[in-house]
Amino acid sequence: MPCGRPRRVWSGETAAAAVAIRDIAMTSKSRRRQTGTLARRTVLAGAAAALGLSTGTAGLAGTAMRDRPADPDPAHWARQVSEERLRETVRALSAFRTRWSESPDFPKVEDWVENAFLAAGAPRSAVMRQPFALPSGPVLHNILCGNPRDDAGVVLLGAHYDSISEQPRTLAPGANDNASGMAVLLEAVRILGGQPFGRAMVFAAFAGEEQGYIGSTACAKAAALQQWPIVLMVNLDMLGFDPKHPEDPVFIEYDQGNATPSNDDAARRAAMLAAGVAAGITTLPIEHTDIWNSDYMPFEETGYPCIGFYDGGAEPPLYHTSRDLARTMNFPRLTEVARLVVATLAAVAAAG
Ligand SMILES: [Zn+2]
Repeated sequence: MPCGRPRRVWSGETAAAAVAIRDIAMTSKSRRRQTGTLARRTVLAGAAAALGLSTGTAGLAGTAMRDRPADPDPAHWARQVSEERLRETVRALSAFRTRWSESPDFPKVEDWVENAFLAAGAPRSAVMRQPFALPSGPVLHNILCGNPRDDAGVVLLGAHYDSISEQPRTLAPGANDNASGMAVLLEAVRILGGQPFGRAMVFAAFAGEEQGYIGSTACAKAAALQQWPIVLMVNLDMLGFDPKHPEDPVFIEYDQGNATPSNDDAARRAAMLAAGVAAGITTLPIEHTDIWNSDYMPFEETGYPCIGFYDGGAEPPLYHTSRDLARTMNFPRLTEVARLVVATLAAVAAAG
């Protein structure tokens, strides 16, 4: 994310929901020991009901649905997350000397991202380059995968792949910021891409984020112009930071006002669903905060409902430095966050 620390905004409602989720999680753990998966599914459905969410026919934004089967068990998708692949992606992206958007070598990074989508199983016909210009002149590309105009409704997962540091021309490994988000995005492509959910999954890797969301702003403009039916935009920026204490939370951010008030309710429902998933199938403590300072902002401004996942680290001594290296990260934590993200996306994409 660009310079500036994330905002922390709680709501009383969210605090009450967190208590409810903790209670449900405790019930979930004791029931799981007794009866396994079936109980877990029941408990997750109970979690959604307790929080006023629907796992049935009402979607997040009321778009028309296709008649498709959907797996109702988030754990089915979470089980497929691979820590080794997450490590590989972070290692490979942070091995570029720099992924600074202004670097003359940036086209090599773009090629790597496009090939990574293909390696994750995306058909070539589904992968697109979306050009945009930096204010300083160079033309860069967001890399997208999926059909953003699918009239069944679109769940858009985004992460930025550029980096920055105190010496961005020569050394900006950007492991935590944001090879980590890209690693989770590519796992989601591999696990969820092409699955017959009620809604279309679209994956977007943005450039120019560190210059002020330049790539995602271009993408949001295209979305508005072409009326992409996005029911939820989910942003991944800085995941798997090694926490000082294991009980340090993952932040599930949801839009609370900002430019467009009318999209808040859908964002809040999605964030509550994500909290239920975290309690049901992960060991992660979570906190809800407002969205702040990353690629969801232009989508929120355009009117789309937005949530994000952020796992700390936007502070000295590693943030935006040449010391933001893979070896400083906590990969078991990143794996757990990836399980949360993939299962949440599956639940949202299956909603119909
Ligand atoms: Zn950053």
